[in-house]
Amino acid sequence: MPRPRKKSSADPIFLLGVKINPLTEKKVLKIIEHFITVAQGQFYLVTTNPEFIIQAQKDSHFRHILNQASLSLADGIGIRAAAQYLKQPLLKIPPPLNILADLFYGLIYLPYCILFQQQKLTLIPQQLRGADLTEKLMAQAASKKWRVFLLGAAPGIAAQTAKIWQKKYPGLKIVGTLAGDPQPEKDLIMRQKIKAQAKTIDLLLVAYGHPKQEKWIYRNLKHLPVKVAIGVGGTFDFVSGKQKRAPQSWQKHGLEWLWRLIHQPWRWRRQKDLLIFLLLIFREKWFPPQNRAAF
Ligand code: UDP
Repeated sequence: MPRPRKKSSADPIFLLGVKINPLTEKKVLKIIEHFITVAQGQFYLVTTNPEFIIQAQKDSHFRHILNQASLSLADGIGIRAAAQYLKQPLLKIPPPLNILADLFYGLIYLPYCILFQQQKLTLIPQQLRGADLTEKLMAQAASKKWRVFLLGAAPGIAAQTAKIWQKKYPGLKIVGTLAGDPQPEKDLIMRQKIKAQAKTIDLLLVAYGHPKQEKWIYRNLKHLPVKVAIGVGGTFDFVSGKQKRAPQSWQKHGLEWLWRLIHQPWRWRRQKDLLIFLLLIFREKWFPPQNRAAF
């Protein structure tokens, strides 16, 4: 009888039912290269952050799309901290001391790690922000002569982003840009517009924000001559200068969400999801689904 496979540190982790592949940036770049140059078929990647996970609790189709992705990357220090928290068992000391110790771990120690000791969050080795990964991918695309297409953002932004990237990464082949429209009824016309610009595409970057961009990719990928598609959120806005990204020091200490909240206050509506995420993670640990069913 075959022996059960040992768990490997590269196995996906599930956070509130959503897959995360705990990979380093280096490994992800290698896998994408493999997808483009060796593997058969089509692939899509998602950069999952806590807002995605909350959306996936309300929208099972979106959760399915995230879990079907070739790779789901941890975009957010909150994802790394939550995975670490859930992995840490409750101390074997009498209640309520075990709960108090766990609260200390979750509310004091992990926020301290986020701010100052991120290397202690070992379960997911790196945070892969879409905007950073995309920059690395563009450098790689330029050297490997991959054909890149930029879809999404406000009119003119993708084209402006293309110009900036082509200057920054000499030799980068951007085979087309389109602001487009993520509504399902526009899919056919959008696909025609993409195909009119490019016969084949190695890397399609889609900037419609979540969950629209992931749903667009899921509906359209099979109808397009594309090898790899990635939802990149606000990346084109950052590159083109339409939005200012948080300074490195804020990013380093896991405070990019606060920067975005200060500069785009309307985001509070979406960022309240961060609080819901925190509460759901505590519930997951203290009242795991198998115990909840008994109530
Ligand atoms: N966007 C778009 N069409 C839409 C909705 C959004 O092109 O119908 C673009 C928007 O202009 C922006 C990006 O999608 O460039 C979403 O950025 P956001 O920062 O909200 O995405 P997140 O990274 O938070 O998912």
